[in-house]
Amino acid sequence: MHSYSNRPISKAGLTTILNNPFYTGLIQLRKTRESFEGVHEPLISRALYDAVQMVLRGRRAGTVPLRYDFVFKQMVRCGNCGKHLIGEKQKGRYIYYRCHGPACAGTCISEAKLDAVINGTLARFRFAPEDFKDLRDVVERLKGDESAERAKREQSLRLKLGNFDVRLARLTDALIDCLVDKEEYEERRSALLAEKRYIVEALESLNTMPGNHDTIMRSLELAESASLRYKIANPVEKRDLVRATCSNSTVTGKKIEITLRSPFSELANLTSSWNCDPTGNRTPVSSVRGMRPSL
Ligand SMILES: [Zn+2]
Repeated sequence: MHSYSNRPISKAGLTTILNNPFYTGLIQLRKTRESFEGVHEPLISRALYDAVQMVLRGRRAGTVPLRYDFVFKQMVRCGNCGKHLIGEKQKGRYIYYRCHGPACAGTCISEAKLDAVINGTLARFRFAPEDFKDLRDVVERLKGDESAERAKREQSLRLKLGNFDVRLARLTDALIDCLVDKEEYEERRSALLAEKRYIVEALESLNTMPGNHDTIMRSLELAESASLRYKIANPVEKRDLVRATCSNSTVTGKKIEITLRSPFSELANLTSSWNCDPTGNRTPVSSVRGMRPSL
C-alpha cells in the first residue's frame, strides 16, 4: 500500500487511517473531537469500523477471546528445576504445560490432568451437612474464647499503660532529688516513652487484628463450596480458587503434587481421617481449634 507521494505507508500512518471514522461517512474535528455527517460516500460500514476498533484495542468482535487463556499459567512449577511450566496448544486443541528448563525435557502435563487433580484435591473438603454444622459450632465457640482472651489482654495492657505516668513522675522526682543526673534522666525517660508507645500500638492492634476464628470460619465456608465452585468457574476464578487454597503445585515427571494452605490442609486431613478410619474413631471436630491459618 502506498501514500499519495508513492511511499510505503508506515505503521503509524496505517493506524491513523484505521482510526479515522471519515471512511464511514463522518467528519471528526481533530481538536474538539466533534463529529459531523460528511457529504462524501462512505467507503466502509460502521459495523466494520467498530469491529476494527475492537481488534485494535485487543478484543475480537463478539465475546471470543483473541488468545487462549491458559488456566494454570504461572501457577505450576517444575519439581525438578523450580521454573513455572509454560502452557502450549497442540494440534489446535490439546493444552499442555511444559518445563522449558534445559534438563527437564520430559516434564509435560496436560491441562485436563492438572484440572482433574486439582478438582479431586478440592473435593476432599466435602463435609456431610451434620459435620459442617459441628465444625461451625466449634468455630463459634472459638470466637467466644478469643473474645475473652482479648479482653484479658486488653485489661493487662491498660494496667501497664496506667503505670507509666507513675513511673515518669518517680523519675522526675529522682532528678529533682539529684538521685540521677540529667543525662541518665533523659535516657531513662526516652526508654520509658518508647516502651509506652509499644503498649499503645499493641492496644490498637488488638482491636484491628482479625481473630483466628474469622479466618477459620471464612476458610471453612470457602472449603465447603470450593469443589462446586471450581467446576463452574472460568479460568480467572479457577486461578483465584487455587491461589486461595493451595500454596504450591509441582509436576515432577508425570507426578502432580498439590500442597494445600493452612487451614485447608488440616481440614482435608480431618475429612480424610473421618472417611478412611476403619475403626470408626474420628478425629474430633474440635481439632479445628488448634488450626493456625496462614491466610
Ligand atoms: Zn524444570
